[in-house]
Amino acid sequence: MTTKRGFTTTLLHSDRLTHPEHGALHKPIHTSVTYGYDDVQDLVDIFQNKKKGYAYSRQGNPTVSALEHKVTQMENGLSTIAFATGMAAISATIMALIKKGDHVVASSYLFGNTRSIFQSYVDLGLDISFVDATSAENVKNEIRENTKMIFVETIANPATQIADLAKIGELCTEKGIIYVVDNTMTTPYLFRPVDVKASLVINSLTKYIGGHGNALGGSVTDTGLFNWANYPNIFEGFKKQVKPEMLGMTQIRKKGLRDAGGTLAPEAAHSISVGSETLALRMERACTNALALAIFFEGHPLIKKVYYPGLESHPQHEMAGKLFLKYGSLMSIELDDSIDCFAFLNKLKLVVKSSNLGDTRTLAIPVAHTIFNELGPAKRAEMGISDSMIRLSIGIEDLDDLLQDFKNALG
Ligand SMILES: *Cc1c(COP(=O)(O)O)cnc(C)c1O
Repeated sequence: MTTKRGFTTTLLHSDRLTHPEHGALHKPIHTSVTYGYDDVQDLVDIFQNKKKGYAYSRQGNPTVSALEHKVTQMENGLSTIAFATGMAAISATIMALIKKGDHVVASSYLFGNTRSIFQSYVDLGLDISFVDATSAENVKNEIRENTKMIFVETIANPATQIADLAKIGELCTEKGIIYVVDNTMTTPYLFRPVDVKASLVINSLTKYIGGHGNALGGSVTDTGLFNWANYPNIFEGFKKQVKPEMLGMTQIRKKGLRDAGGTLAPEAAHSISVGSETLALRMERACTNALALAIFFEGHPLIKKVYYPGLESHPQHEMAGKLFLKYGSLMSIELDDSIDCFAFLNKLKLVVKSSNLGDTRTLAIPVAHTIFNELGPAKRAEMGISDSMIRLSIGIEDLDDLLQDFKNALG
């Protein structure tokens, strides 16, 4: 890691400072599946975690490593592991660190597929409690002797609830519980979970970090704050091979990435890496657009409700202001009962009807019918998702064009 340069400067020069061949400014795309060594001892040492290097690309690749280093710098962390998708990062992290008999507390406001995989883990016998994490008190009340992990998101999707991030961090530190924060919605540009004592940070690189809707990826970053040496689920063999601070990452890389196989392709790593160079610029623009649109929607007679942390009407507005640099680019709206939700969406000419978020383009989706459809009405109600809710991921288009498109659709 170099000096304390600014967020964007650090990213722009990250590859170059590792001296790629020919003075390349980007880490090249290495497609070799396997790596050969003249001295077999080198290969053995890599297998035994005694030496850094590459053996088989499922668990490590130079192009992917360069991206991992970038994410580590963005998050001000210790080390990062990249995955094929955000979901691969989440599922591998849980699988690598949690065992039968352990208990996990998770926010009840979670990305739909995260909620779904957690349910699959419950079906496999894992004990997971879902609580309203906007209050640390609720989380505290669920903690038991066997609670090993607390899992929350920064700004929940689609109703934008914000977890009581700082207080939960204190709780986890006090009790020695692994604190996992999914930072996808805020990105390390708006918020660094290490600042609220997170142990591990998840990012879906598919979203804002890659930023252009052209590559899938995910990551988990160790902030260096959790004491892995005393964590009972670490494989004994690793304790003799790596430094105590690297035990968590070693366990996730081997038991999570290597064994489950959710490997990020080097081509995707390159696309995400290039996309990440403009993260700060894109976030600034998208957040500015989002706030202006949220204010427009809140003042519009045909909009019943706006969910956006940047509005004073948002229940955690004040906390969001303290924690985050800006309020993000995701919001949800509910239309007046007199308007047909699908007809409104079909009138949008610029805004794309699509399920992604964190793209450069503004995207809209009716939530209950699509991304949260499988959950059924009861769980949706529990998560604060109404039938007429439309989720918007605001992009970096010119604001006037976006305003015009929404005005036309409401007109
Ligand atoms: C999209 C998303 C994920 C999953 O990421 P993928 O790259 O799509 O697998 C996880 N968490 C949050 C908050 C997300 O928005």
